[in-house]
Amino acid sequence: MTYRLKKLYKVIAVLGVLIASPSSAHATVNIFACTPEWAALAEDIGGAHVKVKAATTAQQDVHHIRAKPSLLAAMRQADLVFCTGASLEIGWLPILVKKAGGPNVQPETEGWLMAADYVEKIGMMEHADRSMGHVHPEGNPHIHLNPHNILTIAEVLSTRLALIDPDHRADYQANFARFSDAWDKNIVTWQKQGAMLNGQKFVVYHNAWAYLLQWLNMDAAASLEPKPGIPPSAAHLEKLLTTLKGQNVRAIIVTPYENRKAAEWLSTRLNIPILDLPFTVGGNTEATNLTRLFDVTLGTLTAQKVHKNE
Ligand SMILES: [Zn+2]
Repeated sequence: MTYRLKKLYKVIAVLGVLIASPSSAHATVNIFACTPEWAALAEDIGGAHVKVKAATTAQQDVHHIRAKPSLLAAMRQADLVFCTGASLEIGWLPILVKKAGGPNVQPETEGWLMAADYVEKIGMMEHADRSMGHVHPEGNPHIHLNPHNILTIAEVLSTRLALIDPDHRADYQANFARFSDAWDKNIVTWQKQGAMLNGQKFVVYHNAWAYLLQWLNMDAAASLEPKPGIPPSAAHLEKLLTTLKGQNVRAIIVTPYENRKAAEWLSTRLNIPILDLPFTVGGNTEATNLTRLFDVTLGTLTAQKVHKNE
């Protein structure tokens, strides 16, 4: 037998093994990411070995998503479900996983990664009932606007991808190392830039900003929602107007998907600006990736002069 022929036989034998056990090597890891920030992180850490489906856009309120057929189809393909957890997607993710998720992406499996499980959460509650509004008893799930949390989750994700797709372990580790180096430097820059926000008062619509505020030691003066998940009422806004007058509130922060009416009402009467922040990747045309998301957020928050109420 010639060398060439031997080599051909070997190739055929290898192909046979691959066909017989298709799970032994992943061509591509299909990642179902619930929100744009996790989709962006999955692209950064997964690189060429992953295909990412973002279930929502920055213009959608992730608390309220419909389990529509396109999401079921994406879930059917998933090798990894990468979401926030802590009940953020409780209204739709469990339905999708139950109806369309394979055995490898069920809760407690390798293919199930809930970011909020890996960071310290604000406002964990022992008791929560309906009278408190739409609260998250496992703590505030809006964890992604503290960049330290992003780094923690990036590392968890790289480890998880290496488990699911061991052939590319070295690549996932290298991608994380590169991400981590750049991110550490960015955090230093952002913290320097954000130092002027220390102690400054902000009004938010929903406490989706809690981790950003805590990270930069900003002061959450009030929420436009009377209770989490309950839309602003006239009575609540009147009360805010009275309590916030003369308090040197710097701005009202809103996400791309929140109704601006209440913010505008209060903004006019208190003579304070509304800051439209991207909230997540794709929230405006400049916030094209995770780094840009923080660049734009810090840039917008610090561009404005310190406001003094009369
Ligand atoms: Zn929420």
